[in-house]
Amino acid sequence: MTDYRTQVAIIGSGPSGLLLGQLLTNAGIDNIIIDRVSKDYILSRVRAGVLEWGTVSMLEQAGIADRLHREGLPHNGFAMAFSGRTERIDMADLVGKKVMVYGQTEVTRDLIKAREQSAALSIYNTEDAQPAGFDGSSAHITFQKDGVSHRIDCDFIAGCDGYHGPSRKAVPQSAIQTFEREYPFGWLGVLAEVPPASHELIYANHPRGFALCSMRSNVRSRYYIQCALDDKVDAWSDDAFWDELRRRLPREAAEAVTTGPSFEKSIAPLRSFVAEPMRFGRLFLVGDAAHIVPPTGAKGLNLAFSDVHYLFNGLQEHYFEKSDTGIDAYSQKALERVWKAVRFSWWMTTSLHRFPETGEFGQRIQEAELAYLASSRAAQTALAENYVGLPF
Ligand SMILES: Cc1cc2nc3c(=O)[nH]c(=O)nc-3n(C[C@H](O)[C@H](O)[C@H](O)COP(=O)(O)OP(=O)(O)OC[C@H]3O[C@@H](n4cnc5c(N)ncnc54)[C@H](O)[C@@H]3O)c2cc1C
Repeated sequence: MTDYRTQVAIIGSGPSGLLLGQLLTNAGIDNIIIDRVSKDYILSRVRAGVLEWGTVSMLEQAGIADRLHREGLPHNGFAMAFSGRTERIDMADLVGKKVMVYGQTEVTRDLIKAREQSAALSIYNTEDAQPAGFDGSSAHITFQKDGVSHRIDCDFIAGCDGYHGPSRKAVPQSAIQTFEREYPFGWLGVLAEVPPASHELIYANHPRGFALCSMRSNVRSRYYIQCALDDKVDAWSDDAFWDELRRRLPREAAEAVTTGPSFEKSIAPLRSFVAEPMRFGRLFLVGDAAHIVPPTGAKGLNLAFSDVHYLFNGLQEHYFEKSDTGIDAYSQKALERVWKAVRFSWWMTTSLHRFPETGEFGQRIQEAELAYLASSRAAQTALAENYVGLPF
């Protein structure tokens, strides 16, 4: 048995655990991160790609935004395609803000590099991590590595371990309430080394189903199409994917799609999920451990980072100002913003996808909603305000 002692023990080396760790390290607050998978595996995960400016500011605050500013693509607007027309939502004009396109994989790479340059400890390939003692004064985590038992004693545990991690499961069921909606479809996503169809994202509502043209850089495109929940990746050749994508896009965008071999293809189910509260004594749930949103609003990663903002500020106040006001308010503050993002992601999903059970009526309602959006600056402003990210 090896024993460690730290101030904040972090379970999960995803974006939320890494950013929290970096901010704590910079502030001189000792922390250890553990993760059940290897560093290489973490660096190979392909996920989100649209960063709110608040997220960019947090990466600046953490001192790791140089490459982000060099290689990221600032976007002032995006397109909504429906009923044979395309309308641009000009975020810069409507709310004076923009978003940054920069892959989650790159954010993670930058954060891991910065951590390696500091003296902070990360332990990979752990097994059976268990947070314990968080309802009293002796919080700790036990875990196994290479067949040896380990224990980290700490002041606080940050459960940054995603939807399937052990932190939320360690909380007694009577102390937690969950809210969930599963959507009756998934997203088939493809990543290809080809220039994007447009320099901005295109969200398409089409009677055949939703489609999204996104990108990770000027030479790497990320495309998605709505698919059935029981669809199998193997059933979709690259050609079949490109054909279906083009069918769902406006003619101009379809003609601008450059096809090529995909190097990542996967199907993700869509779900909304919230666990309340997000604090249990000395244990805090952060990011996907506490909430999941469907990716339509590009909020998952950004929401994880606003949780980190509230928690980091609370921990700073605890250690440097001897005040627990911030950590006491963490759950309420984080959840207030979480629910607004859950609502927005639900609205984007509901407005843009084909719902089998609502039929032609549902399609017409969606088209009316999108036509209203196109005609109303007030509606566009509300959309833009949420898309660029509500303040935190
Ligand atoms: C397939 C997929 C596609 C996505 N696409 C988008 C998108 O397009 N846009 C968007 O905004 N969001 C997207 N998301 C959501 C976004 O990626 C997440 O919101 C974001 O990763 C949350 O970060 P996190 O650090 O809270 O959790 P995670 O990234 O899930 O990180 C959790 C970490 O905890 C570790 N862990 C889990 N269990 C244990 C354990 N027992 N012991 C130790 N460590 C453990 C995991 O290995 C992982 O490294 C996607 C998510 C998925 C799964």
